[in-house]
Amino acid sequence: MSQSPYDVAIIGAGIVGASCADEFARRGMSVIILDRDGIGSGATAAGMGHIVVMDDSEAQFALTRYSQQLWRALRPELPADVEYEECGTIWVAADEEEMVEVWRKHDYYAKRGVPTEVLDWKRFQQMEPNVRDGMAGGLLVPQDGVLYPPCAARFLIERAQKRGANLRLGASVAQIARGEVRLSDGSNVSTKIIVNAAGCFAPELTAGIEIKKRKGHLVITDRYPGFLRHQLVELGYLKSAHSVSSDSVAFNVQPRRTGQILIGSSRQYGAEHKEVDHDILTRMLLRAQEFIPTLGPMSAVRTWTGFRAATPDKLPLIGPWPGDNSVFLASGHEGLGITTSLATARILVDQITGSKPEIPIEPYLPSRAGKEFANA
Ligand SMILES: Cc1cc2nc3c(=O)[nH]c(=O)nc-3n(C[C@H](O)[C@H](O)[C@H](O)COP(=O)(O)OP(=O)(O)OC[C@H]3O[C@@H](n4cnc5c(N)ncnc54)[C@H](O)[C@@H]3O)c2cc1C
Repeated sequence: MSQSPYDVAIIGAGIVGASCADEFARRGMSVIILDRDGIGSGATAAGMGHIVVMDDSEAQFALTRYSQQLWRALRPELPADVEYEECGTIWVAADEEEMVEVWRKHDYYAKRGVPTEVLDWKRFQQMEPNVRDGMAGGLLVPQDGVLYPPCAARFLIERAQKRGANLRLGASVAQIARGEVRLSDGSNVSTKIIVNAAGCFAPELTAGIEIKKRKGHLVITDRYPGFLRHQLVELGYLKSAHSVSSDSVAFNVQPRRTGQILIGSSRQYGAEHKEVDHDILTRMLLRAQEFIPTLGPMSAVRTWTGFRAATPDKLPLIGPWPGDNSVFLASGHEGLGITTSLATARILVDQITGSKPEIPIEPYLPSRAGKEFANA
């Protein structure tokens, strides 16, 4: 049985689908959001919620910075349970070689209007006294923040609903093509536009998308108010995020409003099961203790895993799918989907409505991957 047509059907109520729903509804389009589970129950529930500007490439910088500015503008409207804190990131330099990278990053950000402060070791220690002695210094990026992703997704969906969007949870989508969404129960939803925002499951609905699952582990401690003030990330994190094959861990810790400390992070390809991998978890925690030895005796209250949706060039897929002019992609955000969700929604809806996007969209277009996508 076919239901009444919508302008847009969004598959996935993670942070990306939620942002898209909010943006389409804001522009006056009729929206239905379909998720086989709950709001923010996929990678969004597993993510760290670090709203961070990154500079692996100009395209990554443009998307992360644009989106961070959108989050900052939204801040007064975010409810308390989103726990948005502009705590800043400190990129930790272990030695003088990494201080060279600190200065490079500082210059890069300065040229693009992002405030930063280079910290010598004395200043660093004043800011974060629990980091072990003997580091070289770091780079403070004060406009970076943190939030609690599932509540952010819920806020965006509810805002879309207030503008008329329809939400259907427990709705498993089996197939999408030519303006028809076929659900596993055999029913159909007719729509002009379909947005595949199914995260790392996007290839199940759009064959030919190159997305691989990249598993990550996180641990959250009991409450230790005041122990940590900034998100601390080792500069070696960049090597870990760049690795395309091997398993890797990096020191990445986050202060939560509750006083808890969220400890990450790991990256693994080829690990499809959700279970905690104790070897990599041990490596991750030992790495964290190399930077903050007093983390060792703290009690952890929960450990979990999640899957990032990784594309070969580490940039998300945002835009029309060449094989079907009703299908648009908003997926493949790897470890930055919380940060980049709002900008993803803006540039996707700009493309569809013919508005001029704030940043160049070409680096994110699904057609960039060439003929194999187009022929899929
Ligand atoms: C360990 C870890 C740490 C991270 N840390 C950060 C961070 O600090 N900062 C940051 O910016 N990002 C971070 N990320 C990345 C971020 O969490 C993701 O990029 C983001 O959540 C992706 O959101 P999404 O909406 O695309 O996907 P998801 O949240 O996975 O949502 C996809 C939704 O689609 C639904 N779905 C799938 N298939 C179907 C179907 N067939 N029918 C109906 N529904 C379907 C699912 O149920 C799910 O709800 C981290 C990720 C991990 C795993």
